[in-house]
Amino acid sequence: MVFVDAPRHADLGAALTYASESPLAPGTLVRVPLGRRDVAGIVWDEAPGHPSDRGIELRSVTEAVRSLPPLGDHWRRLIDFAASYYQRSGGEIALSVVPPELRRLDDAQVAARRAKVEKAFAAPRPPVGAAAALPELSPEQSAALDQIRAQRARDPGMTLLLHGVTGSGKTEVYLRAADDALAQQRQALVLVPEINLTPQLEARFAERFAGHRIVSLHSGLTPAQRLRSWLAAHLGLADLVLGTRLAVFASLPRLGLIVVDEEHDPSYKQQEGARYSARDLAIYRGKLEGVPIVLGSATPSLETWQRATQGRYAALSLSRRIGGGSLPAVRLIDMNRAPQSAGGRPALAPLLVEALNQRIAAGEQSLVFLNRRGYAPVLHCADCGWKSACPHCSAWRVFHKIDRSLRCHHCGLAERVPSACPECGNLDIAPIGRGTERLEEQLAELLGRPEQRPARIARIDADSTRRKGALEAQLGAVHAGDVDVLVGTQMITKGHDFRRITLVAAVNPDTSLFSSDFRAPERLFALLMQAAGRAGRDASQSGRSEMWVQTWHPAHPLYQALTRHDFAAFAASQLAEREAAGLPPFSHLAMLRAEARTQEGARAFLDGAAQCAAELPEAAAVTVYPAVPTSIARVADVERMQMLIESPSRAALQRFLARWLPDLHILRRANSGEARILRWAVDVDPLAI
Ligand code: ADP
Ligand code: ZN
Ligand code: ZN
Repeated sequence: MVFVDAPRHADLGAALTYASESPLAPGTLVRVPLGRRDVAGIVWDEAPGHPSDRGIELRSVTEAVRSLPPLGDHWRRLIDFAASYYQRSGGEIALSVVPPELRRLDDAQVAARRAKVEKAFAAPRPPVGAAAALPELSPEQSAALDQIRAQRARDPGMTLLLHGVTGSGKTEVYLRAADDALAQQRQALVLVPEINLTPQLEARFAERFAGHRIVSLHSGLTPAQRLRSWLAAHLGLADLVLGTRLAVFASLPRLGLIVVDEEHDPSYKQQEGARYSARDLAIYRGKLEGVPIVLGSATPSLETWQRATQGRYAALSLSRRIGGGSLPAVRLIDMNRAPQSAGGRPALAPLLVEALNQRIAAGEQSLVFLNRRGYAPVLHCADCGWKSACPHCSAWRVFHKIDRSLRCHHCGLAERVPSACPECGNLDIAPIGRGTERLEEQLAELLGRPEQRPARIARIDADSTRRKGALEAQLGAVHAGDVDVLVGTQMITKGHDFRRITLVAAVNPDTSLFSSDFRAPERLFALLMQAAGRAGRDASQSGRSEMWVQTWHPAHPLYQALTRHDFAAFAASQLAEREAAGLPPFSHLAMLRAEARTQEGARAFLDGAAQCAAELPEAAAVTVYPAVPTSIARVADVERMQMLIESPSRAALQRFLARWLPDLHILRRANSGEARILRWAVDVDPLAI
């Protein structure tokens, strides 16, 4: 049986049978004929009892890619598991996770690439002895490392949670654990949520492991670079693979350690195609291959936290910052009491403006974050009530002042801002609310004192960093001290080891307090803790470091826990709420989503799916909820509906899905006419509800 790189989406990863003159080991890459073309394929293990198409004239494999070793047993088991757990075909996953370039090349071309990689990696390594002296571990770091070592000896496939406050030296623990693996001639896999935001981490690994071979694997690489990294990993030439979620599928013949940094980060979940969680697959892979897996976070996901408190994961804790610095004092600013000015409520409380000015005077940096880019989320005509709705989406178009455009962040529609109201001709259309662009403008007006030079303000968000190299340049300016106030979206709250920031301010975090998504508080808490972690990273300044939160709900338990930096208390209260409501991790979810030109079309498909479910005996163990529109129901003229399936038992949910999915494929094929759906998908363990 061969998983085939079929051109049509519907056949992606079809499993077909071919004849071969000599037997081919499972995992061998091949080129096979499909229609009139030759395509890539991977020889797969014959399913037990699979009728090997006897009596049919089989087409022959065109060529086996003998210049590469076959993909290993462990790798194929990982793909098989991912396919069955996330309800996709094995072929789809297998072919979508090998580099696209590899699927294009024949054996001779692969051989040439292999030779190049081998040559590059055989080049003389820099001297090892010259490496800088290692920092002495803190007692907590030593204890954590000892536990990882003990665990490796006792039960190597066990998951460990390294819960450490920001700046407590988690990365140093990863480095030491990786060093152990490398010393045993094993490979280490380190997963990070967004590699573009963590050039520092890459640099730290490269510096520490100067004598070793490090490759990265993420979607920002060119096809040739990605193939090179992948080959280096697969051939066992790379010692350390640093990558984003797709790297969980790297072929690593000598794997000895997996690290998942910021394990709670939502970007570990793939949001299209096979909607896998790289963190969860990493845990499975660790067990499968019997290698330690370390999950690190200052704010673990509640799923992970619950397992650690139950003893199913080994719990390691770093409760103190390196150098004895303290976490920033959290100040809640009650916006109900902020003075009103003629133009309504100010963006920033006067107290906060004063605090920012003090930092500038003292030569310290501040970070102000607002999770909304653009100038203003909507334009409004006070005369007739017109608002800048997107004609194709159930969303407002955002005003970007820089190029005077109205842009829809969902479908991408961009137009010049009208000079007058399109409905009534009123010339006075006004922005409502604010995004980072406007905040930057307002800060420039508010900050600075007569005796000071003007404040130097920099903005980092998806708009200001679109150009290649722009992010690095802006971060460089912050690190060099050429910036007084850094404004941005959550992009600036993640991971960066800023040394001069002593004040962090969250301008308007309340919006996610009352979201319909039950994970919104968990995400907000993580975001705020992470943001707080950017302040006072230099111990000599940590005593003065502060985090300010502007809120209309200062008494909210989430903010109260934040002021104490008390993740455990926050987690306990959230878990109690989840248990009472029967939500994860106390239940298991899957989401069936459908997209159609009309809401009725999407609903009809989901209703049909619910009927199919009702006829299955496995449905007794699950609850199928009614179909509802997604939170942004229409995007680019496509209506989106979803249906939640819930079960107290993961196994029961899996059994149900495995029986139900074939029905859905049939339902889809029978689905035609005006109300035809465009797409449907099942999302197992969905993150966004
Ligand atoms: P985290 O990943 O937990 O936020 P880091 O690993 O980035 O923390 O550590 C914070 C800072 O402390 C870094 O600059 C790091 O180089 C430094 N550091 C970590 N461990 C030690 C140590 N044992 N001795 C001295 N400095 C350390
Ligand atoms: Zn108008
Ligand atoms: Zn739109």
